[in-house]
Amino acid sequence: AWPKIDIAKNPYKADFPLLAARPDLSFLDSAATSQRPASVLDAQRHFYESMNANPLRGLYSLSVEATEAIEKVRTQVARFIGADTAAEHSASGSDASRDIIFLRNTSEALNLVAKSFAPLVLSEGDEIALTIMEHHSNLIPWQEVARKTGAHLVYLRPSATGELSAQEIAEKIGKRTKIVAVGHVSNVMGVENPVAALACAAHKHGAYVVVDAAQSVLHMPIDVQALGADFLAFSAHKALGPMGVGVLWGRHELLERMPPMLTGGEMIDSVTEEAAVWAPVPEKFEAGTQDAAGIYALGAALRYITDEVGYESIQTRERALVHYLMSRMVELPFVDIIGSIYWDRHHGVVSFNVQGIHPHDVASILDAEGVCIRAGHHCAQPLLAWLQVEHRACCRASLAFYNDARDIDAFIAGLKKVWEVFHG
Ligand code: PMP
Repeated sequence: AWPKIDIAKNPYKADFPLLAARPDLSFLDSAATSQRPASVLDAQRHFYESMNANPLRGLYSLSVEATEAIEKVRTQVARFIGADTAAEHSASGSDASRDIIFLRNTSEALNLVAKSFAPLVLSEGDEIALTIMEHHSNLIPWQEVARKTGAHLVYLRPSATGELSAQEIAEKIGKRTKIVAVGHVSNVMGVENPVAALACAAHKHGAYVVVDAAQSVLHMPIDVQALGADFLAFSAHKALGPMGVGVLWGRHELLERMPPMLTGGEMIDSVTEEAAVWAPVPEKFEAGTQDAAGIYALGAALRYITDEVGYESIQTRERALVHYLMSRMVELPFVDIIGSIYWDRHHGVVSFNVQGIHPHDVASILDAEGVCIRAGHHCAQPLLAWLQVEHRACCRASLAFYNDARDIDAFIAGLKKVWEVFHG
């Protein structure tokens, strides 16, 4: 059954200044970046207006205030992804916020794991298992480390509807597997991957699990323990937060073993003419001045998600929106949906092609109608090649709880227009 809520009403739009100011626009590209509520923009401004100082550098109270504000967000993020319930922390009372590293985005976080952690566990002939659905961010860093270490990439291939079978998992994850890298939700197919099952298979063989949560964080609660992750990355900008802030969480003993990827200010304990002693985790990985206002605003974004809206409402509304979107799309005989035809497999993302029309043409005609979608290879070229998608490109409509029925109606009217332009 699909949730029967009134998606013509939109109680959230007023919270999002851009959406409120542009009622003519149907923003269906949240998988690329989400919109931001006023509370996030206000937080960013508030940081600069009332606590602006370089965190960590100063001994005066303004700088201390800035530092404390950032550390509070660290604690908040640890709770947000369930890192605070890890046995290692509950047993020892140690601080789970120390396992949260602030970086620029998911790409940087995954690069840190591939460049600093992977070489510690990979030797020639070892295997890195990843799905063919991975975003290039969770693919190219692994290609690079494979090349350097002599390890091999092994791809788990889903069915045409995006399902990874138990047999595929059993066949591809084995005793040579050292790392399993997986996207929690595919940015093209919208499917949720069976991360817990993959982690179970990985851990049975002593492999480590790296989860790219960039595409799931706005759509479902994240729990690193339940997922069985050893590392997990996400970007603030896909979760109502600012661009330029990303999070990497890792198991503490693994982070301890890793060398820093960047060196310089703020990441050392002491320096002599010859050498330096690294600061403890997480500062060891946070060289240079960070986007403190952005991190502070990420705190506001997570608060909006969990306290203002709540994942239950987010998911109920999003399911109703995706149901409506796909039921309207299947009425159009010239539209081919990529991946599952079942709406409940799509977590905010529906990719498609209009028969015989290049995705870029589709997107630009929709743009003229005020509808924002993405078209291209979606940084997932191996997936589009594997699915043998024509032009190796497709269109993608992606939504969030702040969309409404009007956005979808405009999109469907726009698709009819696309067909008319070419065939009318
Ligand atoms: N992984 C997935 C699944 C994504 O969708 C994206 C963004 N499109 C990324 C990683 C990269 O995120 P960022 O550009 O913020 O590094």
